[in-house]
Amino acid sequence: MHALTISKLTKTYGNGKEALKGIDLSVDAGDFYALLGPNGAGKTTAIGIVCSLVNKTSGTVEIFGHNIDDDLEAAKACIGLVPQEINLNLFDSVLNIVVNQAGYYGLDRKTALIRAERYLRELRLWDRRHDIARNLSGGMKRRLMIARALIHEPKLLILDEPTAGVDIEIRRSMWEYLRKINEAGTTIILTTHYLEEAESLCRHVAIIDDGTIIENARMSTVLRRLQREIFVISLRNPLLSLPQLDGFDYKQIDEAEIEVVIDAGHTLNEMFAALTTQGLEVQSMRNKANRLEELFMGLVDGKAAEAAKTSGN
Ligand code: ADP
Repeated sequence: MHALTISKLTKTYGNGKEALKGIDLSVDAGDFYALLGPNGAGKTTAIGIVCSLVNKTSGTVEIFGHNIDDDLEAAKACIGLVPQEINLNLFDSVLNIVVNQAGYYGLDRKTALIRAERYLRELRLWDRRHDIARNLSGGMKRRLMIARALIHEPKLLILDEPTAGVDIEIRRSMWEYLRKINEAGTTIILTTHYLEEAESLCRHVAIIDDGTIIENARMSTVLRRLQREIFVISLRNPLLSLPQLDGFDYKQIDEAEIEVVIDAGHTLNEMFAALTTQGLEVQSMRNKANRLEELFMGLVDGKAAEAAKTSGN
């Protein structure tokens, strides 16, 4: 059973911006799925369409078999959404916010209160249930949005950049909670531009760039592509001439800095050894780009090479 099936989905905004250029995607029930991509790639637009907050231009979307064009209420009942922006009624109490949401889904008050207690306890907000939302910390507001999204016990939980701007401790505890509810059977889709977040949580990943899905695979497959890293090496003393690093792809970028590509065929040890034999001492070293950027570069280069091959160039 698919939790979500998206087919040939396009979105062109009123200003002519083509945010989605015909994407296909399917997510199995029970999966933990990441929609990964840089800012402006189209992730929020895709989520917005799935949750019927944004009108699509063309294409189809099914949620647990319910087509959003002709079975919208059933489709919506399957989804809990945690949006990117804090959109709580800041003057309402924590408990009311969650219980009122239950009302939108037709739950009676008794059931709503039982569930509210359960989710607020699980998300460590029960002690704050009478506080107004405005008085909560940023991390608590995010957890409250998760409790609110879960109150009707959706089969599919969608989180748009759940940990943007959240400190590391809260991020970890949110990850732990999401893992737990996924293990209990809830399908989870999240958008993120942190590769590390997707890597830590998700079994599958779709990578979206400029409105197009450029990769859709198991997380482990995607990570295997990350075999090439570029390091910037700062040397203790200025270089008098370019060192010899046979077999490496490298260049000098400053008087005491070189940039070296370490791919699957080479190790950092070999590079250090070569520098040492030439009397060069390494002061410090850093990754040139973050891993997500490198992944994109690799995928975009790969696609260009494929296109060149098929066009016979
Ligand atoms: P992401 O979530 O990956 O950062 P978005 O889906 O928010 O990307 O945006 C995709 C593209 O669509 C961006 O170029 C963005 O500027 C544009 N966009 C988003 N919302 C609107 C809108 N309401 N009107 C016009 N353009 C928009």
